[in-house]
Amino acid sequence: MMIRIIVVFAVTTLFVFFPEIFPRCEYCRKIKLRKCFQFHKSVSLKLTYKGNLSLCKKCCKKYNFTSLDKFRKHMRVEKRIEYTVRYNL
Ligand SMILES: [Zn+2]
Repeated sequence: MMIRIIVVFAVTTLFVFFPEIFPRCEYCRKIKLRKCFQFHKSVSLKLTYKGNLSLCKKCCKKYNFTSLDKFRKHMRVEKRIEYTVRYNL
């Protein structure tokens, strides 16, 4: 009985902290170790991947994201380009 409680507790803890230990990059959508990330910030109270905004070092270097604001601007521009391409051709 005691072992069962411990197992349930361990699984719950792992589930809750999994996005903290293995965040997902917001740009390349890859799951990597925490140390591979340059930015990791919780944006809402959700405990899943949706609650965090993370950027891996590789994407930061490749696309020159020096801050999360820069990343947001980049995404906004990218969305606008996609929209223009989709509806103007
Ligand atoms: Zn990435």
